[in-house]
Amino acid sequence: MVILFVSSSIAGCFGDVLNDDEERGISGGLALACLQDDKFKDMEIHFLFEKGYDPIAMDLVKTRLQEVCDKPGGIKIVAEEIDFKIYSTWSSNDVRDARWKHGGDAMGSETLHWYFLFPSGTHEDSSVLGVAVDASTVAIFKDSVDEAEGLFGRPSSEEVERAVTVHEAGHLLGLVNLVYTSPIDHEDSEHPNHSNNEDSVMYWAIETNDVGNFLTGNIPDEFDDDDKSDLEGMASGSLKCKKQLWS
Ligand SMILES: [Zn+2]
Repeated sequence: MVILFVSSSIAGCFGDVLNDDEERGISGGLALACLQDDKFKDMEIHFLFEKGYDPIAMDLVKTRLQEVCDKPGGIKIVAEEIDFKIYSTWSSNDVRDARWKHGGDAMGSETLHWYFLFPSGTHEDSSVLGVAVDASTVAIFKDSVDEAEGLFGRPSSEEVERAVTVHEAGHLLGLVNLVYTSPIDHEDSEHPNHSNNEDSVMYWAIETNDVGNFLTGNIPDEFDDDDKSDLEGMASGSLKCKKQLWS
């Protein structure tokens, strides 16, 4: 039996936050913790991946975070193979549970920890390639990324994976308008918390399985000037941030 699931929105992008999970925060809730160095001098980005699902964009994510975050002690990649023991479909709650089961706290004494999960299987909304589920957790579904490869390999699954991984990191940074209100009109009105610029990695179609139908040229894997302007405003304090877990 084939069940066709057609979704014009990308509601699956953000998991609902449970009330009793307040300390885990919403996506963007640890944005200032990354953008500023007041509390956290260094950062570890953890990549938890199922056997055979090695992430290809670890260095790229580190580079993108270094470009916008203030971490004088540096950003370190920690990669770990995990048997998640979930083989079919994942809800956003499953992602959250797996991260807190296999990973540690988000906030160490002076170290900020973000988690990138690369499980086998797909999100229960099969159009979703990646999801940000709380202030320190995202997942990228490589099985879906592979299927999103365009005709004749354009875009390639590697290009899509790089873009989706940076895109989800962008949500942890609060993009777009997750924990602030941009003075620039660049949020897509039909796709909340995403960019309306197809040259931004925060473009709404990046994390959907028909990304190849929307972007035919090179897929962006970096933030555009408007995204960067938002991040600079948050970092400097000129843009007010809400729902921060620690500040
Ligand atoms: Zn998104």
